[in-house]
Amino acid sequence: MNKGVRTILIILLVIIVPFLIYAYLQVRSLSDDEKMADAIYEKQMETVLFSLNQYADDRMQQWVSRLSNKANPIIKNASDLVLGNEAIQLLVMRHISNKKDSLCYNDYVSGTNGTPEQINDWYSKNDSTLAKLTDYLNAGFQKIQPASGLPSISGLNPAQAAMTVMIYDKDSTLYNALFIFDTNYWVESVLGSKMQEIAQDEFLLSVIQKTEDAQHPDILYSTAQFDPAREYIERALWILPNTYLTIQSNNVSLSELIGVRNRTNLAFLFFSISTVLIGAYLIFKNAQKALKIAQLKSDFVSNVSHEIRTPLSLIRMYAETLMLGRVSSEEKKQNYYQVIHRESGRLTYLVNNILDFSRIEANRKTYHMVKADMNELVQKLYDTYGYTFKEKEIECALILFKEPIPVQVDEQAFEEALSNLIDNAIKYSPEKSKIHITTRIKDGMAYCQVADQGIGIAQEHLTKIFEQFYRVEDALTQKTKGTGLRLSLVQHIMKEHNGAVKVVSKPGQGSTFTLLFPLTTEPA
Ligand code: ADP
Repeated sequence: MNKGVRTILIILLVIIVPFLIYAYLQVRSLSDDEKMADAIYEKQMETVLFSLNQYADDRMQQWVSRLSNKANPIIKNASDLVLGNEAIQLLVMRHISNKKDSLCYNDYVSGTNGTPEQINDWYSKNDSTLAKLTDYLNAGFQKIQPASGLPSISGLNPAQAAMTVMIYDKDSTLYNALFIFDTNYWVESVLGSKMQEIAQDEFLLSVIQKTEDAQHPDILYSTAQFDPAREYIERALWILPNTYLTIQSNNVSLSELIGVRNRTNLAFLFFSISTVLIGAYLIFKNAQKALKIAQLKSDFVSNVSHEIRTPLSLIRMYAETLMLGRVSSEEKKQNYYQVIHRESGRLTYLVNNILDFSRIEANRKTYHMVKADMNELVQKLYDTYGYTFKEKEIECALILFKEPIPVQVDEQAFEEALSNLIDNAIKYSPEKSKIHITTRIKDGMAYCQVADQGIGIAQEHLTKIFEQFYRVEDALTQKTKGTGLRLSLVQHIMKEHNGAVKVVSKPGQGSTFTLLFPLTTEPA
């Protein structure tokens, strides 16, 4: 790896590594944030549920304290309480010592005279429970607890829940109060308004009942439409068995909101990282290209110097010999003049190529398009190569299309493109090999092909040879001198003519370069 590339890599690492570390920390802190927000949210929800539970408990306590109102007999208190609260279907007041029951039915219930059998049954099985509650009461703690094990009582609304509490009347007679509620009424009348008050527009509060066999909970009450599919927090309602208070945020839950925000943040973060990585990659590629061009340019300078030096020293040598009058025969003189003429032509050609290149670079190269017959242009150029072919002992076959090929071209540029191809064909072919120059019309396009049997070009170089200064770096190419400019000029010229240059080549077998021009229908 050369020094320049290494420097670029180090700079990129210096930019990218902190960015990646930042991204990593960001991703980690996002999940921490999420956890913390979740915890705060859950605490808040729990507080709401706790206060509701507390409220239900208080209401129950209020009822019990109304029963023990010392101003009236306890049975009177009981029937007043029942008639004032639709939630109580039946209140059984059991006189503990004589086991006599007073039944207070609400007026929407058609009650029976005697104590329902299930209730008698329950009392007979719960002596110990009542004894325990009495102990609590005597110790100053009036415990209200669910009357567990009490079956559904026929004749009442089936949505039943029962609570029991021990109580002394004003004469210190011990009673057990067994409340049988209509659960729906209870939830609605006791908790409903409080739930509405707390929920407002922010939360969705519900009371649900879960039975073991049912898959979905029964919704006893809800401040709005309860959606079991959405995330919710639940806490058991102390007062009623199998009944839970639930809370959901309205619309989107906080954790969903955080999730969405985090996902957006992450997406944005990864988008930024990808942009930086792509940017870094492009910078790296560009810098690499710039380095390569700098390298190619310096090669170019030494190649050009070399190319200029060879004809210059030949011209100088032959001119000096002539000047010293050392050449006697006229034939030899003519020979020397030809060499000087040819080499100075080569120099002119080289300089023209370089000038053309700099004009293209500066966007100053202009073309003067005229209608011409491609066959004529090719023939004219071919004739100028007679001497070179002879000198290199190259057999060149010209195969022209049987009819004129009308094209719209800048004649000078056309000659330049074709002569660059012919020069390369000569340059990269051994002596005594064959070159074919062919013209034809195919698929509505004008073709001019230069095929040689030279060294050929390996597949991996085929697209690159049209780049400026590019020269194939191998032993065979190194033998010949060049600037790496010719094919890039050819390609530029072809683009300006709305045409193209194509190449087919195999190492060791030769190359075929084709110039493609659009045919013209314009009158001359
Ligand atoms: P150069 O001055 O090096 O010839 P060019 O732009 O004309 O520059 O060509 C670029 C490279 O393409 C050359 O260095 C050579 O390796 C390869 N090339 C071009 N023409 C031929 C050909 N006819 N046969 C083999 N290789 C060729």
